[in-house]
This record gives sequence, structure tokens and C-alpha cells, in this order.
Amino acid sequence: MGSIKLVDVAPTMARVLGARTPPIDGRPIDGVEGWGCERVVLAIVDSLGYGLYRFLETFLPNMRGMAEEGLLLAAEAVAASTTPAIASILTGLLPENHGIGSTRQASESEIRSLLEWASFEGVRSAVVMEEEGARTFEGFVEAALGVPRGLSVRDFDREILARSLEALDADPRVLVSHFIGIDRVAHQGGGIDEVREAASDVDDHIGDIAAAVPEESMMIICGDHPIHAGELQGVFDSSSVALILGKRRGGRSRRASAPFRPP
Ligand SMILES: [Zn+2]
Repeated sequence: MGSIKLVDVAPTMARVLGARTPPIDGRPIDGVEGWGCERVVLAIVDSLGYGLYRFLETFLPNMRGMAEEGLLLAAEAVAASTTPAIASILTGLLPENHGIGSTRQASESEIRSLLEWASFEGVRSAVVMEEEGARTFEGFVEAALGVPRGLSVRDFDREILARSLEALDADPRVLVSHFIGIDRVAHQGGGIDEVREAASDVDDHIGDIAAAVPEESMMIICGDHPIHAGELQGVFDSSSVALILGKRRGGRSRRASAPFRPP
């Protein structure tokens, strides 16, 4: 397997969903189609660099469990800021090919994303992110749920979790949620202790989402870029983000692990 890039996320998800992709820069990650998943949840964890993840992983039991049973990859980031990075994650295109540098450009862009590829084939999809970003998806996803930008760091990510659980009630086959706690804390000048707390909160939220999705769902967690502000910029990462692919296995649920009773 050659080097993995963030543009490989969308085609990997499309393969899981059985959706066709237009010509793009990314390629599906090998092997995951054999996992037998038909649904996928993508949690984008803002500023989760690969080195940062490795440094914090003992405090992140949910992500670590998924990585240990699935895949943990150092993915090459393709942009240094959030909007073009997320556009690359969702379109499979490098920034020079999607040209999306701002939310306004995202809403005006003719370029289609994974969520549209899926919707065209009747795949129910949902996206949960900051409200201005969420609005760019309205009209072609089943649920585009926004969270107000003005909330505190903790409340914002809690609200992303709450709306993600709400979105899962409608049983989408693909859900994309964007958690921003680590990035906000870094921008506010926080050090590693504050970043660890923010990461730990996000890990709890991801655990809650994983507990709410049906068995045999794929969970994908990725950073969008390494920390790009504050005292931790450049400390753990220069250009790689964490990319975790895991499967919520039926065998671990309470129902499937109930004692076997012969007929
Ligand atoms: Zn970001």
C-alpha cells in the first residue's frame, strides 16, 4: 500500500456504501470492503495530527480500541486549514482541484461530494457540523444539522454529539460529524493538558456515537490538519493526521454475547 492521503477517505467511504465516484484524486484504501460494512460514520476531529494522537492515545480508549481492532494510519494532510481540508476529505480532490477555500466558496461550488454521490444513489445521509458549514449541504442530504459557532468549546462538541445521535435516529447509512474542541483549545493558546482534556471529551463523544450505530457499521475517525495555531503548532506533527478505521462488531454487543442456549 502506498502512502495514504486524506483524499482517500471519500472513495473508501463510497466503496463501503456501494456508491460510484466521479474522477477524483483519492483512491479507496485496500481491504476494508472485506469487512462487510454497509454503513459508515465519519468523525472529523479538528487538528488531530498523527503524532498528537500517538502521544494522547492512552487517554483515548474509544479511538484506541477501534484502531487496535481495525487500522491506524498516518494520512498525509492536503491542506493546512479547515475548510479546504474538509472539502478534500469529502470530495476526494486535492485543494488545487476543488478550489474551495471558504464556506462561501463551498456553497457556490459545483463540485460534488461523497454526500451527494451517496444521495444520488438513494443512500440516506446526514451531516452535523457548525451551522454555516451545515447549510452548504442542505437540499441533498437527508439531515444537515448545524451547531451555533458561538457556543463554548465543550458545549459545541457536546451539541455535535447530541445532533449526531439525533441524526442517527433516522437511520442514515452515512453520517459525517465534525468535532472542533482540540483546534479551538489550541487557538486559544492552550497547552498539552488542555488539548488532552479536549481530546478526551471528543473520545467520549465518539464512544457514544459508536454505541448508537447499528452493528456492522464502519467508524472512520480522521484529523483534518495538524495543530496549526498556538504553542503546540509543529510540536507533534508537520504534515500527517491520524486516520482510524474500525468496525463496530456484532460480537461485542450485549445481545450477541448473551449465553448460547441450545434449543
Ligand atoms: Zn481544522
